[in-house]
Amino acid sequence: MHKAKRIILLGATGSIGSNTLEIIQRFPEDFQIVGISAHTNSQALAQIANTFQVPSIALSDESTYQSAIQAELFSKNSQVYGGDHALDQLIQETQADMVVVAIVGARALSPTLKAIQKGFDIALANKELLVLGGSFVTQAVQKNKVRLLPIDSEHNAIFQCLHGNNSKDLKSIILTASGGACRDTPIDQLHTITPEQAKQHPNWSMGAKITIDSATMANKGLELIEARWLFDLQPHQLKVTLHPESIVHSFVHWIDGSVLAQLSPPSMTFAIQHCLFYPDKRTNPKPSLDFDTSFSLNFAPPEPKRYPCLQLAYQALEQEPYGGAIYNAANEIAVQRFIEKAIRFTDIPKIIQHALKHIQVPDTLSLESLLQIDQDTRDYALQIDPKKL
Ligand code: NAD
Ligand code: MG
Repeated sequence: MHKAKRIILLGATGSIGSNTLEIIQRFPEDFQIVGISAHTNSQALAQIANTFQVPSIALSDESTYQSAIQAELFSKNSQVYGGDHALDQLIQETQADMVVVAIVGARALSPTLKAIQKGFDIALANKELLVLGGSFVTQAVQKNKVRLLPIDSEHNAIFQCLHGNNSKDLKSIILTASGGACRDTPIDQLHTITPEQAKQHPNWSMGAKITIDSATMANKGLELIEARWLFDLQPHQLKVTLHPESIVHSFVHWIDGSVLAQLSPPSMTFAIQHCLFYPDKRTNPKPSLDFDTSFSLNFAPPEPKRYPCLQLAYQALEQEPYGGAIYNAANEIAVQRFIEKAIRFTDIPKIIQHALKHIQVPDTLSLESLLQIDQDTRDYALQIDPKKL
């Protein structure tokens, strides 16, 4: 008998979350949503809970949770968790087959580790959690024999290209990068870029943080570290090419000189649907590439002066096991400060650079020390005076 896959969707109200819901809605026989979460958007979460008849709900922001309970926003039949531990509780107390991790930031690490321990497959959009705790996540995945399926389009492309090949014959992977909102801004004008300008992505429609990360290319830096963990690669095997059309999502270069690529239009629906049905495939009503019309694809090496965050990611890789944690936390805080107009666009890489240089790390690695370094870096990045950068 056909059994619906039970899905927990963390970050149901976001950009990846909405794309995931759109696919699930097209295949009501194949999926049952058993849990959803959001941080502050309780109205949208209640609407999703209602549409999909979701039994378990988490609102991770405590005050939003309190107001939602007072306003009786959710059905009496559903279980609602609130506050700092809501995501962990939702995972702990819900039975599922797959968790789609579509919340933003390193906050996703704890519930994802719990989900792996419970034996749920993971469809992972969030990259920050791997950059912070990649070694713990990959160990837990092996130990619990679950699938870790990458939704991030570049890594989804590599995952597809590796299929059927022996990864020991891999020479390098090449992540494609659109170049983001400031790819044509004169380099000496980058310091004038406003948050509103940085949030205008030329090809993709995504959440605010990742769109700003695309403009600085910290997103590609995070993705290099994400790839290091997902595919067990060395820094010299990780490369980036600028590809303004965002149609080739990445390349795999083999030792015999051949290169494989995965192509689709710049929409996350293709990667999300691939993960939801893996290893099966279903039709997708979204238009795919049309080879009856002419189009061209361009590639170029990214300019180091325009994208200092990229080089800093290689530095973070050299500073393992804490470099990724420092890179990610410094970037999260710097982006937040940039959105609040407390620092300039060009201060973002400077804050990451200072943090990589100054944060003191212990000799040994534990999950506690990793979370401590994450917190130390956040405190440090928050107090840096931009005038001194
Ligand atoms: P978004 O900002 O649109 O949505 C974020 C979701 O996370 C929302 O549901 C929000 O309620 C929740 N959230 C926000 N802060 C939270 C917190 N502190 N605790 C718990 N939940 C919180 O983000 P998005 O663009 O959908 O991206 C989600 C993740 O997927 C990010 O890690 C991003 O890097 C990654 N990703 C996104 C895309 C894309 O196309 N949007 C592509 C590749 C990877
Ligand atoms: Mg990506």
